[in-house]
Amino acid sequence: LVSRKWRVRPTVLDLGDGVRIGEGSLSISAGPCSIESEAQMEKIMQHLVDNDVRLMRGGVFKPRSSPYSFRGLGMDGLKLFHQMARARGIKIVTEVMQVSQVEEMHDYVDVFQVGARNTQNFNLLDALGGVDKPVMIKRGISGTIEELLSSAEYVFSGGNEKLILCERGIRTFETASRNTLDLNAVPILKEKTHLPVVVDPSHGIGIREYVMPMALAGVMAGADGIIYEAHEKPEEAASDGQQTLNFTESARLIHNLRKVYALR
Ligand code: PEP
Ligand code: MN
Repeated sequence: LVSRKWRVRPTVLDLGDGVRIGEGSLSISAGPCSIESEAQMEKIMQHLVDNDVRLMRGGVFKPRSSPYSFRGLGMDGLKLFHQMARARGIKIVTEVMQVSQVEEMHDYVDVFQVGARNTQNFNLLDALGGVDKPVMIKRGISGTIEELLSSAEYVFSGGNEKLILCERGIRTFETASRNTLDLNAVPILKEKTHLPVVVDPSHGIGIREYVMPMALAGVMAGADGIIYEAHEKPEEAASDGQQTLNFTESARLIHNLRKVYALR
C-alpha cells in the first residue's frame, strides 16, 4: 500500500493552518531533543516564529541508552508543550514509545514520532494504524530500507494513511560519527513509495558542525523535509547537546535550506 505501484500520486499531509508535509513544499521542523521547561520552550518557539518555521519537534518520552539519563517530562510536559504551541500557531511532532501512550497523547500531538528503537515495535505500529493523526516513522538503528517500508505498511494497512518516513542514520562500522546518515535512502524511498521522506541530520551524523552540510545534502538528494535539533544553549541541553544547533546556526540553516530547495 505504501508502494508507488499502488498509488502514483504523492501523499501530501495537511496538518492544518497551512502546514504541509510532502511534495510541493519544504517542511522544516526544529526543536530540542527533549522538552525541558516552559522557559526553554518560550525561547525556541520565538526562534521558530521569527524564522517562519511552523513545526516543532521535542521529546517528552525519551528513549535513553542509559536509564540514568534524563528521560523526559512525560504527559505534563506534553500538555504544556501543546498549550504553548497552540498559542503561537506551531504544530507538534513528538515521540510515542508505547501502546498505552497513544490514547493519552492523542489530543496533544500533531504528528506522532516512532523512534528508531521502536521502528519494529509492531504492537505500537498496529495501535498507530488506528489513529487519525500523522505518524513519522524513523528508520531503525540497524534497519534496512525494506524494513522501514514494512513498518510503514503496518500503519497504513491498519487504516492510517498519514505517514512520513525519516532517514536518521544507521549503525555501521564507522566510528567517526554517531551514525551513518544514509542519503542513498532518500532517492530510493522517493522512487519506491508515495510517502513524504524527511531527513534528520542531527541524529544522522551526531556532530553539530556537520549538521548543516548534511541537511543541505538531504534536500538536494530529494527530501521533502528536514527535522533537526535546536536549543538556545546546546551545551546545557538535557540530551543530545553535541548535535544540537544554537539559534544563530539554526537561523543560517533555515535560510540555506530554503535557498537550496529553490534550486531543485
Ligand atoms: C529523537 O528524535 O530525539 C530521537 C530519540 O531520535 P531517534 O529515534 O532517531 O534516535
Ligand atoms: Mn535526540
